[in-house]
Amino acid sequence: NTLVTTKKLRKSYGHGDNKVEVLHDIDLTIQEGEFLALAGPSGSGKSTLLTLIGGLNRPDSGDLIIDGIDLYRLPGEQRADFRREYIGFVFQQFHLMPYLTALENVMLPLAVTAVPAREQRRRAQELLEQMGLSGRERHLPGQLSGGEQERVAIARALINKPALILADEPTGALDSQTGEQIMDLFGQLNRSGMTIVMVTHNPDHLNHASRIIHMKDGRLR
Ligand code: ADP
Ligand code: ADP
Repeated sequence: NTLVTTKKLRKSYGHGDNKVEVLHDIDLTIQEGEFLALAGPSGSGKSTLLTLIGGLNRPDSGDLIIDGIDLYRLPGEQRADFRREYIGFVFQQFHLMPYLTALENVMLPLAVTAVPAREQRRRAQELLEQMGLSGRERHLPGQLSGGEQERVAIARALINKPALILADEPTGALDSQTGEQIMDLFGQLNRSGMTIVMVTHNPDHLNHASRIIHMKDGRLR
């Protein structure tokens, strides 16, 4: 089944004489269960495409269809609701809240939902356990290693049971051994059925993907 379709997505930054087109008519389909890696040099448009697929940005033109919904034709509030329900994001810099514990960070996306508090806690605990972080529930991010923080961020991305995980250089801030462990974790998630799109410029990490797309100058190659 097709989960994501982009149709002639185009994106530029700036205005007038400073306008730079960074994505040119991107046509891409992503199937359920794929682990897609977006590779290519810095500045080729990988992150921009990922944020567009995640509904976090706005294309100049073109369409993004996820599970039959044309996302950029939804009003902003509905698009945000859709994003919360369908998509989990993992960033290079973790973006954890420094004054919340690991458990609280993982529960955070559920704060705005009707999921009962007990169920929020239960799910967060289960995910932390699945990420190998049992016993770390009450630690603050600053008390955790980089790899542990990344795993908290992955647990947080999974808590809404999203259909799609988007990861932007998830190993970029980690040493190579820790990065490899995180990639193994993404591989396991994918084998359990999760659809993943990952931006990376680390060639060592491409072997975990089921498909690799190379980008250059705002185009797929
Ligand atoms: P990559 O992820 O492949 O490094 P990016 O999508 O981050 O590429 O960037 C593509 C191009 O768009 C680069 O030239 C970058 O400088 C530019 N760019 C990205 N984000 C912005 C922004 N918010 N404003 C202006 N230019 C941007
Ligand atoms: P990466 O390529 O690792 O994703 P970047 O350093 O390209 O990260 O971008 C980091 C942030 O800065 C992103 O939010 C991106 O949109 C923004 N950005 C990148 N290039 C520019 C630019 N030329 N002008 C303004 N913002 C930019």
